[in-house]
This record gives sequence, structure tokens and C-alpha cells, in this order.
Amino acid sequence: MKILAIGMNYPSHVKEMNNILSPEPVIFSKPDSALVINNKPFFYPDFSTEIHYETEIVVKIDRLGRRIAPKFAHRYYSEITVGIDFTARDLQRQCKEKGHPWEIAKSFDNSAPIGRMVAKTVFADIQNVNFHLNINGTTVQQGNTKDMIFTVDQIIAHVSKYFFLKIGDLIFTGTPHGVGPVKIGDHLQAYLENELVLDFKIK
Ligand code: ZN
Repeated sequence: MKILAIGMNYPSHVKEMNNILSPEPVIFSKPDSALVINNKPFFYPDFSTEIHYETEIVVKIDRLGRRIAPKFAHRYYSEITVGIDFTARDLQRQCKEKGHPWEIAKSFDNSAPIGRMVAKTVFADIQNVNFHLNINGTTVQQGNTKDMIFTVDQIIAHVSKYFFLKIGDLIFTGTPHGVGPVKIGDHLQAYLENELVLDFKIK
């Protein structure tokens, strides 16, 4: 199982990071040791003092595929959820300054908690799905998939040019604006529409 992730896929987040829009999806990956399921806690790592949440729609691949055409991409997944792309923002800044890859900032152990999967048939249009994150009961980030620069199907088509997609692979589809820090003791709850799908604590 692999985790692929898309950076800078919502104009509002690109703006808050002072980045420029990319003509192609920006891809990075996380190892399987990044995955956290079943609402297990996230343990704040000792190598960072600036762990940020990024709330994202996550798509689960359920069919083998490479070089998938956009028009067929919808056949390659049937479930989605919300996940947190935890980012060590301080390390990411250092990596960017040095022109280094940002793996240590994005792909460390437990950096990818995901919620329970929901059938995509629940949603009338996959490109019009609301999602949000509450921390300690207050909404800190919300988005709608209609604001994606690259749609889910375009993302699947693009990543499958480079990576053989296998059953169980996960794709994080990018965060809207409103990323921010977490601290020990925080209670994170992520929602797909009004459905609580992910519920865990920072320890
Ligand atoms: Zn992200």
C-alpha cells in the first residue's frame, strides 16, 4: 500500500502559503508507516515544534491501474474519507530553503491519519462535497471539493502516469486554506458533509 498526496490543489491554500499555482498537480508520497487508522491518537513528534494539520479528502483506489484516462478514472475508486496530512512546517521551511526534498516534513511516522471510508455513491457529485475539521469543538478549516484546481479524476489520471495504482492505495487530494498548528491535548474531529468520520486526540 502506498500513499500519494497532492500539494497546492486549492487556490486559497496556494495563496496563504505564498506559492504560485502549478500547471500540473504537485505529487509527493508518504510511506505506509505514516498511516493511522481507527481513531488512534497522534503522538506529537520531538523533532518539530510546528506540526500543522491539513484537512483533505482521501480517495481509496480499489482497482489496479496505470496510465488511466480521466474519463475512466471514476471506475478506480468507490470510497472516500477525510484525512489529515500532518506537516512539520518548521522542517518543511528548512527543506525548501535548502532546496531539499521535504520527506521528513511530510512523510514521518503517523503523519497520515484517515477516517472511516464512505461510499462515493452517498454523494450526488464527488466534486461538490463539503468537509471540515473541528479542534476542541471549534471549526478551524472547511472546504468543498468544487474548489479543487485538479479534480479527483484528473489527479488519478495524472498520478497513474508515474505510479502503478494498486488496490488499497490512498490519495490525499490537497488542503484548502486554513491550515494551522496542533498542540498536545487537542481533540480533532473531521467531517464529510455532516458525518463525523475521524475523531482522535493529540498526545
Ligand atoms: Zn496536504
